[in-house]
Amino acid sequence: MSAPRILAVVLGDQLERQSSLVTGLDRARDGVWMAEVAGEAQTVWSHRARIALFLAAMRHMRDDLDAAGYTVHYRPLGEHAESTLEAALAADLAALRPARVQVTEPGEHRVRQALERAAEAADLPLEIVSDDHFLFDLAAFDRWASDRKAMRLEHFYRAARRSTGVLMDDGQPAGGQWNFDAANRKAFAKAGPPPLPEPATFPPDALTAGAVADVRAHFPNHPGALEPFDWPVTPDQARAALADFIDNRLPAFGDFQDAMWTGEPFLYHSRLAAALNLKLLTPGEVMASAEAAYREGRAPLAAVEGFIRQILGWREFVRGLYWRFMPDWLDWNALGAEAPLPDLYWSGDTAMTCLRETVSQTLQYGYAHHIQRLMVTGLFALLAGVAPRRVHEWYLAVYVDAVEWVELPNTMGMSQFADGGLMASKPYAASGRYIQRMSNYCQHCPFDPSRATGPQACPFTTLYWDFLARHRERFAHHPRTALQWKNLERYSGQQLRAIRDQAERVRASLG
Ligand code: FAD
Ligand code: SF4
Repeated sequence: MSAPRILAVVLGDQLERQSSLVTGLDRARDGVWMAEVAGEAQTVWSHRARIALFLAAMRHMRDDLDAAGYTVHYRPLGEHAESTLEAALAADLAALRPARVQVTEPGEHRVRQALERAAEAADLPLEIVSDDHFLFDLAAFDRWASDRKAMRLEHFYRAARRSTGVLMDDGQPAGGQWNFDAANRKAFAKAGPPPLPEPATFPPDALTAGAVADVRAHFPNHPGALEPFDWPVTPDQARAALADFIDNRLPAFGDFQDAMWTGEPFLYHSRLAAALNLKLLTPGEVMASAEAAYREGRAPLAAVEGFIRQILGWREFVRGLYWRFMPDWLDWNALGAEAPLPDLYWSGDTAMTCLRETVSQTLQYGYAHHIQRLMVTGLFALLAGVAPRRVHEWYLAVYVDAVEWVELPNTMGMSQFADGGLMASKPYAASGRYIQRMSNYCQHCPFDPSRATGPQACPFTTLYWDFLARHRERFAHHPRTALQWKNLERYSGQQLRAIRDQAERVRASLG
């Protein structure tokens, strides 16, 4: 076989069949390179469903490219000696001797560096192709961000609505309002949610079953269940999952976006993040389906706006931030948090019902919805003073949709305030009362969210007041946070000492 002119590296989260990298190839002269390497599942200790999802989706992409007449150099797990992407690519560049090597902008800084090193070792420049999956390229984001000190989603989102025309009528936001957040924060009544529509599921075909079996054989000690494995792994399945969400759950998505309920991991959420992040779906098609539901009267504007804000706003926004501030972001620790990640994050073994529910469902499905991530696991780590880097590694490992460009800003910026306010104007700090308001978890818990001390004190509430006291200097006089910190005045010095002692006992018990 003659050496390829271009070797196009396709990574596990770049499975868009119509990407400009793939469509730009000459099938007669160029080749595609894909590799399954154990190291990518081990830089963080990945959930087994996350590994299976990547492998299954990659294998379907390989077969589609094969069928379309591309030459695919595919390195399956266990059939080559290299355990890292860098080593596998270096070995194949030496063997295949392409004239050029190309890749779409990777989703992780570390991976980009590894590919650059492999190309350099082969004496080839790595040509990086802009990722046209996203609505805004990185240069456009940098132009928007260049003279701003603080990066606020709301500013970015409005500019994005204007420039794309999404949910706009004659240059004005549909319904005359940019933001329906106030309408989108309902909790369920005492009886809980009505019977919920089951989300569309995709039982494994032979290819996916093979990927699941390989994960079982190669990663026996990794966390997380492999069954049921029913995530979409092809573009067709992803589109079916999108249609199911739009028809059955989008209308109530807005109202109950922030609500949580025992035994209900998905509620009205879309479960589309993994399909989007592996690029089985484009953000454009997802938003067009949601907007059509509003225009045709099938979903209320507040729900559709709330959903589109996540895709057009948050998703694009965090990607721009990630690339603007990496790799520095990895080392930021504005609150000086140094504690290890509590063991319960890997087992769910705790009497705290909210954490037990959220971690158990995470280990079962590789899924938790946004408020569970932000206001249960994220909040507890923030209040307990866990080192942000350790928190980041956990989130990157345990969710099927975890890719670093989206996970890291959400974790280290939004949830842990490690960036000192670049992304969020104040820490997302709250007591157990927030969880009580938004869920039924506290009804099944031995602790009482209104107590900060004593045997029944809710650990969130104890750690919350201790957090405020520990960071009083920094936040008590800032206009955005002074009001929240003023609440500390209701406690005497003696009460604060009791809270501090109890907080120390809580932290010591975490392992
Ligand atoms: P839905 O609630 O149905 O939302 C619709 C879509 O909007 C999602 O599929 C996702 O593509 C997008 N979206 C929603 N919120 C965000 C957000 N804050 N940032 C970017 N996109 C968003 N999302 C990931 O895709 N991968 C991650 O690794 C990830 N890690 C997170 C870590 C923390 C600490 C937090 C607080 C959030 C994280 N998120 C992450 C954002 C969000 O929690 C998930 O996108 C969402 O829970 C996925 O479930 P869903 O598809 O049902 O989303
Ligand atoms: Fe969580 Fe505290 Fe409520 Fe228990 S009482 S579920 S620990 S918030």
